[in-house]
Amino acid sequence: MAVYSISLLKLLLDMMAFFTRLRYTAAFKITQSCHFMNHSMLAPDAFQHALLTWFDQYGRKDLPWQHPITPYRVWISEVMLQQTQVATVIPYFNRFMQRFPTIEQLADAPVDTVLQHWAGLGYYARARNLHTAAKNIVKQGCFPADLASLTALPGIGLSTAGAILSIAFQTATPILDGNVRRVFARFCAIDGWTGERDIIQQLWQISRFYTPQQRVAEYTQAIMDLGATVCTRSKPVCSICPLIKNCLAYQQHKTALLPTAKKSKPLPTKTVVLLALKHQQQLYLEKRPPVGIWGGLWSLPEFTDFAAARTWCYAQKLMINHEKIFPQQRHTFSHYHLDYTPLLIETDNLTNRVMEHGQNFWYNNTQILTLALPAPISKLIQVFYL
Ligand code: SF4
Repeated sequence: MAVYSISLLKLLLDMMAFFTRLRYTAAFKITQSCHFMNHSMLAPDAFQHALLTWFDQYGRKDLPWQHPITPYRVWISEVMLQQTQVATVIPYFNRFMQRFPTIEQLADAPVDTVLQHWAGLGYYARARNLHTAAKNIVKQGCFPADLASLTALPGIGLSTAGAILSIAFQTATPILDGNVRRVFARFCAIDGWTGERDIIQQLWQISRFYTPQQRVAEYTQAIMDLGATVCTRSKPVCSICPLIKNCLAYQQHKTALLPTAKKSKPLPTKTVVLLALKHQQQLYLEKRPPVGIWGGLWSLPEFTDFAAARTWCYAQKLMINHEKIFPQQRHTFSHYHLDYTPLLIETDNLTNRVMEHGQNFWYNNTQILTLALPAPISKLIQVFYL
């Protein structure tokens, strides 16, 4: 019996030694691959402890999607938070949840209604993907709880899937959203644009290395919170950061230089005329094609120049009673600037309903407020009714 106990004890000790070696070998590999030879990387336990202790005291625990936490609510919030700050997202999230409290209600809704509740958040492909993914999930019968099934859905990448799994299912899965990229790029002083493939791979390795098995939901929220509130894009508040003692960017006085900015080429500019065709309190709107900018949203007809806009009016047999040109404005998308000049034309021959079919309509000013409109167009339309 005693022999068995000693053997068992020896086996346990060997296993512990093996796992310890494995863990530090993994750390060493990261160290090598990330060229941190001079940086003694903080052990995962110490990193997690520092972050979670900070989170317990300062983390955000009253965000609307945290009460209650469900896979559906975490998913919607994560998609809304892509490229958008928490303060902007909160009212959108609340309105969205009021209208689509369950995934079934989202799946059943017309895509127009979904876009209408998204209008103003930008990147409308996200809303269309949400809608398609909701339909797929409802068809499958349950919310996917593994990485492969989640990332197979439209609009769900590795980081969003990681956030859903760790926050809603408490499954240890790393994330790498914009905030987390910034924290790790600074903490490990990684030079290079964080959108580059090699850099992304290094950052994923680090994120994986530090993701804990225990308290993973809090850890995930904590690292996102740290990036959003302390390790901010400009002027990080290092003096209150729980990672300051081991942060390489801080030690090397590079917090303002990291993460490395993308070498940006000047964006091209597209110039258009947007026609605001008005009859009394009615405005003529067109629905944009489902793909491309402002896809599926209602907008003003777009022309290359004033002459093309007027020619189109004549072709529709519309009298031009009065016209006014508004100052040119700019809206910048990720890949180009749109310089648009609003041309208001008032007509008095009551339409021409022939112009109306599924994608074009005359709307009165009260109806317009209920439509899915891109934010710049919505602002513009309010000017026409002043
Ligand atoms: S010490 Fe400063 S730069 Fe480093 S992780 Fe903290 S806030 Fe970011």
